[in-house]
Amino acid sequence: MDRLRPPRPDLEDLVPYDAKDIDAEVYLHANENPSDLPGEVLDKISERIRSVGFNRYPDPLANDLRALIAEANGLEAGNVLVGNGGDELIFDLLLAWGGPGRTMLDLPPTFTMYAIDAKVTGTQVVSIPRRAGFSVDEEAVLDRVGEGDIDVVVVSHPNNPTGTLTPETFLIDLLRATDALVLVDEAYFEFSRHTMRPHMERHPNLVILRTFSKAFSLAGLRVGYLLANADVVRELTKVRQPFSVDRFSQMVARMVFRERAAFESQISDLIRQRDVLVDGLSQFDPVTVFPSEANFVLFRVPMASAVWRDLLHEHGVLIRDFSRAEGLEDCLRVTVGLPEQNARFLRAMEEILSARSAADHFGVAATASRHDKGE
Ligand SMILES: *Cc1c(COP(=O)(O)O)cnc(C)c1O
Repeated sequence: MDRLRPPRPDLEDLVPYDAKDIDAEVYLHANENPSDLPGEVLDKISERIRSVGFNRYPDPLANDLRALIAEANGLEAGNVLVGNGGDELIFDLLLAWGGPGRTMLDLPPTFTMYAIDAKVTGTQVVSIPRRAGFSVDEEAVLDRVGEGDIDVVVVSHPNNPTGTLTPETFLIDLLRATDALVLVDEAYFEFSRHTMRPHMERHPNLVILRTFSKAFSLAGLRVGYLLANADVVRELTKVRQPFSVDRFSQMVARMVFRERAAFESQISDLIRQRDVLVDGLSQFDPVTVFPSEANFVLFRVPMASAVWRDLLHEHGVLIRDFSRAEGLEDCLRVTVGLPEQNARFLRAMEEILSARSAADHFGVAATASRHDKGE
């Protein structure tokens, strides 16, 4: 036949997640760790590469890794599920708790994968926009879950891309107010140092998501995990792809998790560098900086896309442009990098903004002189 049957019509207006693959000299766009794994860990990986067993299927549940994660969190292995990045686990949660006839409560602006996965799984989305300053509209959320038809609530904590941490007291109120599955996405937990883990015993509807992609330098491998009630984990094993976490990734993730103490000082450095970025950006008059509890900083600047373009094309610095996203008009997000990368970004910002303010003055002067001449 010379025709193609159309795909699902409800996917027509879905825009694919846009992880821009752009060449740059400094990459501060994807919230990755700016450093690769420590040399000792890389050495150990190369020593073990011959015993991975590439010809064998992986352990579907990554039992050795989940046992390590469970123990570190004071839980049983049955409370842990490992996925192909946190992204896969978000998708699994929506397969099992969302779907046709079911509803997810979203708190935008936030991580866009929640809404994309909802759409793909046929889950209806109810959005309660964050207030100015990006705090959650707590009353509106509690009222809305009180209606009883919400099946899943997603809270990015701290929130990507705004950096906002939601008050623990509110999260507890939310867990009390609903039997919906509440996903607290702690992808940036190692930077915020805040977790809802202590509330798991009392609230069977609490699911915590973590990842190896941010603090632990493993964005390239795809390993994430969730902590949840054993019944939730069991349900998710029905919908997940059985071999989604390969043998090599399981081996490396085990090694990194055992060595996680070695990342501590680097994480502290990144937190200090986050303050350097916040302070540096605050010095620029046209810029509004939002406080962050993660390894990135969101800021607002007039004509943001032009700033984004100049950073990339004139200074080789790639950051993330959110200026066309709803609720994030004129907002850009910069990931905390190494000290020299952050300094280079701030210098570039200074050049771009001062060139612009000079041009503005010139523009004003030109207009004034035209007026003087009565034009
Ligand atoms: C990065 C991120 C994740 C998970 O990323 P993976 O690389 O798939 O583990 C999940 N949630 C948020 C909010 C993130 O920013």
